[in-house]
Amino acid sequence: MTEFSPRYLKDYQVPDYKITTVNLTIELDDTKTVVTNVMEVSKVGVHQRALTLDGEHMQLMSVMVNKDKLTASQYQLNESTLTIADLPEQFTLTITTQINPVANTALEGLYKSADVYCTQCEAEGFRRITYFLDRPDVMAVYTTKIIADKTSFPFLLANGNKVEQGDLSNNMHFVTWHDPFPKPCYLFALVAGDFDLLEDSFTTKSGRVVKLELFVDKGNLSRSEHAMVSLKKSMLWDEQQFNLEYDLDIYMIVAVDFFNMGAMENKGLNVFNSKFVLADDLSATDDDFFNVEAVIAHEYFHNWTGNRVTCRDWFQLSLKEGLTVFRDQQFSADMHSSTVTRIKNVKIVRAQQFAEDAGPMAHPIRPEKVMEMNNFYTLTVYEKGSEVIRMMHTILGDDAFKAGIKLYFERHDGQAVTCDDFVAAMSDASNTDLSQFKYWYSQSGTPELSVSDEYDAKSNTYQLTIEQNHPETHDKQEKHNLHIPINVELITSDNNLNQGGLLHSKQKTQTWTFENVFTKPVPALLGNFSAPVKLNYQYNDQDLNVLMVNASDEFNRWDAGQKLFAGYIKQLVNNAELELPMQIAEALAQVLNSDADNAFKAEQLVLPSFDEMAAAIDEVNPGALVRAISILKRFIAEQLQSKFIATYQSLCTNEFAKDGAAIGNRALKNVCLDYLALLDGANELVLNQFNQANNMTDQLAAIKTAALNDLICFEDVMVEFARQWQGNTLVMDKWFSINAMHNNENVVQRITGLLTHPEFSIDNPNRARALIGAFAFYNSHYFHNKDASGYKFLFEQLTKLNAINPQVASRLITPLIQFKSFDNNHQQLMKVELEKLSQLDNLSRDLLEKLTAALQ
Ligand code: ZN
Repeated sequence: MTEFSPRYLKDYQVPDYKITTVNLTIELDDTKTVVTNVMEVSKVGVHQRALTLDGEHMQLMSVMVNKDKLTASQYQLNESTLTIADLPEQFTLTITTQINPVANTALEGLYKSADVYCTQCEAEGFRRITYFLDRPDVMAVYTTKIIADKTSFPFLLANGNKVEQGDLSNNMHFVTWHDPFPKPCYLFALVAGDFDLLEDSFTTKSGRVVKLELFVDKGNLSRSEHAMVSLKKSMLWDEQQFNLEYDLDIYMIVAVDFFNMGAMENKGLNVFNSKFVLADDLSATDDDFFNVEAVIAHEYFHNWTGNRVTCRDWFQLSLKEGLTVFRDQQFSADMHSSTVTRIKNVKIVRAQQFAEDAGPMAHPIRPEKVMEMNNFYTLTVYEKGSEVIRMMHTILGDDAFKAGIKLYFERHDGQAVTCDDFVAAMSDASNTDLSQFKYWYSQSGTPELSVSDEYDAKSNTYQLTIEQNHPETHDKQEKHNLHIPINVELITSDNNLNQGGLLHSKQKTQTWTFENVFTKPVPALLGNFSAPVKLNYQYNDQDLNVLMVNASDEFNRWDAGQKLFAGYIKQLVNNAELELPMQIAEALAQVLNSDADNAFKAEQLVLPSFDEMAAAIDEVNPGALVRAISILKRFIAEQLQSKFIATYQSLCTNEFAKDGAAIGNRALKNVCLDYLALLDGANELVLNQFNQANNMTDQLAAIKTAALNDLICFEDVMVEFARQWQGNTLVMDKWFSINAMHNNENVVQRITGLLTHPEFSIDNPNRARALIGAFAFYNSHYFHNKDASGYKFLFEQLTKLNAINPQVASRLITPLIQFKSFDNNHQQLMKVELEKLSQLDNLSRDLLEKLTAALQ
């Protein structure tokens, strides 16, 4: 087995050589694609060191330095490098390689699937196309000539502008592209295939007309409109908010069916998982429309935050990802309800990122040690990374933050830089000391705040004391106190106090005193989730009720409700007989009667998820947690039955609309359905909604409710759904997921059977995630079944995926490596499967890194 050794941030060194231009000629062929790579190379500084290029999974055909063809004795070739010594100061290096795109099931480098040739180079895929200095601080100007059969591959695409095209003999043709912007090789892209093309244009604020081209599989044009509209909204928003204009004359997006991730920001040629492009009213849910818009925006925003200014090394990944996630979240908040958008972001951090920080792969947003880079495209780097940028935005304010961004581009346009450079620009532009704040980049783990308070009625003063705690993480890192911005609102039951503001917690313990406080207030802490931390304050039910009704900030009202629910769920875990107070139902009745918009009401009514609760409890017994949540849910359903029915009925309409109000109505209606599904009459209600549905949101809610509650109609609606949608892979993925979420003891048998369903294929990442992932991530009840059948199922699938596509395997192992969150019985059962996996003799570097961390 190959040696897999980790790399460290502290070992970073500038490259010995630079590559300034790359001239590629790529002759596409299923099994024997030939890549000729002509590079201008020069030494950095004066030295006699050899040039070591990265390269793997390909065949080296020839090496030429200037006009001299090297013999095998003039270079050193091993499994992952090509080394050439005795080189002049400056030279032309020509390397020819041969690759096999059809055999590439890892979907890294050049691969062919579903009749499309496609590349994925981030993080380190370019080294599977040609030998290269595959690191982001080596930036070159690329010219790419693609040659392929004209009938099968009428479209030949690469980065930049098209400069030449023509016909060749034997029905072949070629297209040459030139990208004038120097870029790291991870932003290189090539696509060849036959597509339908949606064309449009955008005029930038300085008056340049940019051609917009969206390529989709034949027959899918009618599902591409929303993506194009989203792109134009994103382009306008970035000009308006950050004064950032697009720079090339053409922007292309290609949707492909085989893709490891969501999408990729290759310069001028984004490649997208079709899941984040295709959407129409019948087949896409409201969430799908939201997500398509968000991912289109994210990739577009990378053109500045990622491409114009890129990362010096991969440890700096959050430089581009945290910042770009923050930008796409702000965009979504501007396009939709800002509170509901924020709630969605926060749920992901609390449910999933906190779990990552508590597990064996805990790492800072700027990791210090990496074995397989693909393992670091994480919730920590992306979502916590975005929270760190957001905290800077909160601390500095919008104007100073934007001044910081402006300075960042003035200083670093065209460069490959570090997170330190970013913070320096923020600090210099705003005259703010961010030195303590920077520990957020180097420290892993979720900080915990303990808050206590004291009210003195005589002096009318109120004191808040906040203590920071930094629990030990798996990486055993030494912890510092952080600069934590804490948004505070002081609320009184008579609602006559308007105090609070932003507190800056910097020391272990700090106290703040508020004057002229005439009644004892309730503190709304961490408003809008002003920092990615856990918070402990002894609220009683009445306090939370006051906040739910009186907090001026909608987010705080929502959060108070979540705390109320979470408190009871925790108690129910230990005591399922606990008598629940009517106040819970009364608080929710108030929510239903309020005049807030329906999207927000829907969020207020949803209970914290299994994952969110699991992240907040030690040594979870999964069965007890599932039961606790369902007891609380049933109690609420029973108490509010008539209100839920009335609300549900008032929101049933025959007309379909897609505006914010209509989306909010559907959300609230389906939350009511979710509660009513626990009571008599559920089956008819769900069946009726399924039959009447004229959109995917309602249709999917119906089958999901049937699955989660194991209703009698479940089999029938699933058969009907599959009959209606067979052949539509994206919708069938939803169907696979619902199968995997079936709340029934036969679910493992069911999904095992589906592995041979004609529309299932484990080679396709979307299919694998839809069936295997949905089971392991979302069927908490049966994945954690005491007989270990869920764990064993995942083990078997990971064994296959390890050989087919290590990246997909590595994502799907997540629920297993987080075993430490569970009670001892479950931990032991999970570890058995992890031990078995670690024995595989072809274990990928991706899984090895995680297994090593988990089992050490
Ligand atoms: Zn990104």
